[in-house]
Amino acid sequence: TKKPRIVILGAGYAGILTARRLQKILRRDEAEIVLVNKHNYHYLTTWLHEAAAGTVDDERITISIRDVIDSERVRFIKDTVMEVETAAKRVVLCHGEPLAYDYLVMALGFEPATFGIAGIKEHALAIRSMNSARRIRHAIEARFAEFARNKEAQEKQQHLTFVVGGAGFTGIEFAAELSERIPALCRQHGIDRQRVQVLNVEGAPNILNGFDPAMAEYAKASLESLGVQFRLSTKIQSVDSRGVTLLSEAGEERIAPATVIWTGGVQGNTVVCNENFETVRGRIPAGKDLRAPGHENIFVLGDCSVVTDTHTGRPFPPTAQLAILQSAVCAENIAALVRGSEDVELKEFVPFIKGTVASIGSHDAVGEVFGVKLHGRLAMMMKAIIDIRYMLMLGNLKLLFGKGKLSAYVTP
Ligand code: FAD
Repeated sequence: TKKPRIVILGAGYAGILTARRLQKILRRDEAEIVLVNKHNYHYLTTWLHEAAAGTVDDERITISIRDVIDSERVRFIKDTVMEVETAAKRVVLCHGEPLAYDYLVMALGFEPATFGIAGIKEHALAIRSMNSARRIRHAIEARFAEFARNKEAQEKQQHLTFVVGGAGFTGIEFAAELSERIPALCRQHGIDRQRVQVLNVEGAPNILNGFDPAMAEYAKASLESLGVQFRLSTKIQSVDSRGVTLLSEAGEERIAPATVIWTGGVQGNTVVCNENFETVRGRIPAGKDLRAPGHENIFVLGDCSVVTDTHTGRPFPPTAQLAILQSAVCAENIAALVRGSEDVELKEFVPFIKGTVASIGSHDAVGEVFGVKLHGRLAMMMKAIIDIRYMLMLGNLKLLFGKGKLSAYVTP
């Protein structure tokens, strides 16, 4: 009989770990495993804010997919997924022939959500992928170079302004990294540090919604000491090629010229947003066993999925941590389906969320782990442990040292 084919879409946290787990638990004769990803590398999405600010080299956060999967067991296809045709049980790719599947894992990650704000899509930069992070870094460097050449701006004592939209996890981590990079860029281009400003705009009255209020206050003070200015209870009304218009109780405020980096929201990958799937804000509500509702052979993981916390009745925030936990249950459930009969009992996904830590540049961090609130060195240590643990999950010590992830922490 023909071996069933398992197709995994996306080699982010959820996809790559599902592939690694399946290559371990399924025998060669039990199933064919295919992994499809846009690029031939896996990147550490949780470090993208550093790549965007230019505080980490790209090579440090990208890993060749072939280095972490067994190519004897998993066939890797570098291609872009265009559509999933559930009736025909096949995936339409941008370049290659359509790919038939018996079991499908959808782990295509997130896309920025613009909430219909005018001009964001066209004029703001957004942290989305390795390539978008590179674009942001280049845009920042270009703005510094232009500002240094602009004698009129110098004479009029104008500011070089960066507006970070959103004070969630990504916005806070990015604003801190950018502020850390600014002194070096100022030195390089001969610009007075006082002329450069980073504004963080947040619609809510507080930053880091969902964090403990005391920890959020700590983070705010830490960012302010790095030079970040906050506009809280303020919405971005529109973005255009020159700058941005803000709206608060005090009225409208025009900030131009300004470069806008939007981190205000994420949604699921639009590839999954079609009539074949039931979606909530671009995400597919995952069943208890992580299958897409109405689809017995399709699993949804990571940022394309939404999982409800049965204790609070609210969705878990989309995180790498959740994606990693899902991958283990998904792989086990697929293996059970491959091996078992139609009515085999699948494992229920009950995540144990250990906590969250947000970095505030390279010298500070804030978070809560196992219910303990952390900041400063302890939080930074926790962040390092999380990263090291993931690198070990992905490969081996060679990878850890080779990528310099460990050296990032042990060298001053
Ligand atoms: P991703 O890791 O985004 O992977 C998706 C993959 O699919 C990518 O490889 C992409 O190239 C590929 N892909 C996308 N579209 C296509 C297509 N059409 N065809 C083929 N391939 C495609 N979470 C934490 O737990 N802790 C943190 O500290 C943390 N920090 C973060 C910091 C930043 C700056 C950001 C942006 C996010 C952070 N998160 C953090 C959230 C976390 O990164 C995501 O929840 C996690 O990446 C989701 O994993 P995923 O596998 O669903 O998607």
